[in-house]
Amino acid sequence: MARINLSIPSLGNKFTDVRDTIPGDSFNWSWIRPLSQVNYLAIHHSASPNNQTVEEIANYHSNNNGWGGIGYHFVIAKDGEVFYVGDISTARANVANMNEQVIGICIIGNFTSGNIPSREQLDSAHLLCDFFINNYPDLSNVNSWDSVAGHKELPGQSTVCPGDNWSAWKQDIVSIPPPPSLGSDRGEQITELYRQILGRDPDLGGLQAYTNSPMTTDEIMLSMVTSQEHQNLISLSQEAGSLQDQVKNLQTSLSSVNQQVLTQQESLQEKDQEINDFRMVSPSPSEAESTSQVPRTDTSLTIIGALINLYKFIFMPQKGDLIGSS
Ligand SMILES: [Zn+2]
Repeated sequence: MARINLSIPSLGNKFTDVRDTIPGDSFNWSWIRPLSQVNYLAIHHSASPNNQTVEEIANYHSNNNGWGGIGYHFVIAKDGEVFYVGDISTARANVANMNEQVIGICIIGNFTSGNIPSREQLDSAHLLCDFFINNYPDLSNVNSWDSVAGHKELPGQSTVCPGDNWSAWKQDIVSIPPPPSLGSDRGEQITELYRQILGRDPDLGGLQAYTNSPMTTDEIMLSMVTSQEHQNLISLSQEAGSLQDQVKNLQTSLSSVNQQVLTQQESLQEKDQEINDFRMVSPSPSEAESTSQVPRTDTSLTIIGALINLYKFIFMPQKGDLIGSS
């Protein structure tokens, strides 16, 4: 009996070994193979409702198909839980004429008619493949993301598995290549485009996507210019320009008010001078005191009142305009 136990830390508690409990033989059927024969991590869909259980699949393969056990090595449920169902030392039954070459990974669900796996399923499938590619040297021929293949991509297969949208979600399983060095010409050019067109440094995901895309620099520039982000920047700068104009108008009004205040101050000084002149000729100190204080108070109140009215006149209608224009 072959029993290769696996520990996949990146999957945490989302990895469950059910080889001992599911229907059928998970350890010998259909035959034992050396791990060096494995060339592919084959991705399948179950072509069934996404709430189907691992036991139901194992039961179906054993009883309906008459097989010795479940046809896959791993099954990934809707919530992303990865079930270890068939020992990887055994060839099972999931890719015609090349079962000895594959580790069969089945994602539960039917991914046709626009359906795709759940986020959790994609993340778990990615981590499972990553484990075999990067942390499991015993699979000596599975050492790059090129090893990941949809069932229908493998030679000689007549199937739609894992569904007609496979090309759309394959990238979620196949790892993103290492980030491009910012020193590379292309990376630097794209970073510069980000700064010039979008006014910011690139986010890592965006930089990688553009750098690894087949787009030319001109096409990337066009894509950025027509992006919603760029359009938002343009309308923001237009709004900012309009606000600046309004601020300028207010400043002009304010300087006009200041000019009027200066004029009023000059007139006040003239009045003070007149009052002083009047005191000079007044014979009685008590009269002089009363004449010097009462008119001064009246004049100051008049000036303050005039200033308040001027500020109200200048600012209140414009504030109303601002609210009305937003
Ligand atoms: Zn398949």
